[in-house]
Amino acid sequence: MVKKHIPLHWKIILGMVLGVGFGLLAIVLNADQFTTHWIKPFGTIFINLLKLIAVPLVFASLIKGVASLSDISSLSRIGSRTIALYLVSTVLAVTTGLLIVNTLQPGNFFSEEKRIEFKEKYASKTEAKMEAAAQVSDQGPLQFLVDIVPQNIMDASSNNKNMLQIIFFAILFGLTMIMLPDEKTVYVKGFFEGINEIILKIVDLIMKMAPYGVFALLASLMVDFSDGDVHNLVELFSALGLYSLAVILGLFIMILVVYPVVLKLFTKMSYVKFFKSIMPAQLLAFSTSSSAATLPVTMECCEDHLGVSKEVSSFVLPLGATINMDGTSLYQAVAAVFIAQAFGVDLGLSQQLTIVLTATLASIGAAAVPGAGLVMLVIVLGSVGMDPEGVALIFAVDRILDMLRTVVNVTGDATVATVIASTEGELRSFSEMD
Ligand code: ASP
Repeated sequence: MVKKHIPLHWKIILGMVLGVGFGLLAIVLNADQFTTHWIKPFGTIFINLLKLIAVPLVFASLIKGVASLSDISSLSRIGSRTIALYLVSTVLAVTTGLLIVNTLQPGNFFSEEKRIEFKEKYASKTEAKMEAAAQVSDQGPLQFLVDIVPQNIMDASSNNKNMLQIIFFAILFGLTMIMLPDEKTVYVKGFFEGINEIILKIVDLIMKMAPYGVFALLASLMVDFSDGDVHNLVELFSALGLYSLAVILGLFIMILVVYPVVLKLFTKMSYVKFFKSIMPAQLLAFSTSSSAATLPVTMECCEDHLGVSKEVSSFVLPLGATINMDGTSLYQAVAAVFIAQAFGVDLGLSQQLTIVLTATLASIGAAAVPGAGLVMLVIVLGSVGMDPEGVALIFAVDRILDMLRTVVNVTGDATVATVIASTEGELRSFSEMD
């Protein structure tokens, strides 16, 4: 008898749907404590497993990738093209967000009453985000460069937030390997190749757990969202419905218009094939709200399903997870203008251009973890003279929008990786892969 093989993305989708169903049931049956104590930990374990392999994966695959480059000039070419594409896609995303929010004007439909209620309700949470943002904005203009160079590699590897430092060291290490004669580096090369294979196998194993992991994550998220009352969910969406719609519309435009056009212009890849190939990564991005946690799977999807070479993916994707956040920048633009509208402030052209600049920088600076975009939004608001406490207005729906914007963040990285691979002749055709 032939055993029917259900593709992984369907299993993950089933896990998500069942998770949402279970969460709703738990709210109705007052089983939220049960969900938090007995279901949520499995979701946390799943995210921890993904994060656990991120540093060794980036380290080993980047060293292997750089060391196998035939010449150093190709690295600087790939590097400059990648950064240019990341910047262009982010600016496009912010502009899309601004066009939508200025057309729909969701803030004009937000009542004064709700404004006061939300400000009071989320005052303490807002303060915590403002403190986190203050630490960032107190830094000098070149601090980001200083932050890229670690003073201790063990220290850098001990925190997933230091991905740029790990990238820096891995590139330095790989480049130095190219400069030395082969016989001096042959064992080290073999060692990192081996590590890389082992980690990729671990990714496979963890992905087998994905359907259960996303079930647990979504079930506990539903309970957290609703605070134990299903009416809270409905109420939130009626107050912030139009704002959420503006963000979601923008995110859809990125996924359904901008990325397909970019792929069409620079590659021969069909978008349906692209979309199917990266779907497991998108589903995980949605469930974990973290591009960093999703990174191992994004790399696997790009390499094994899209045919992007390891040399390209190991450089472009970790960098993208850290600095390229199209979804986040689009959301920041919509949120900033929405908050201004709700406060009755009309932002002129120069202020909107300031948003293009600050939202681009803020998304580069945002960590690839849940809620990071909201912290940086405080800085975007400050740049156009708005009261940062305005973030209280959008707090309630932020987590769900975070899930969606993370999908766009990851899709944007995969798009750029595919384009770079294609222009470098590093994209295997599917006949070669089978
Ligand atoms: N959660 C997002 C990510 O990891 C960042 C954010 O917008 O909060 O890509």
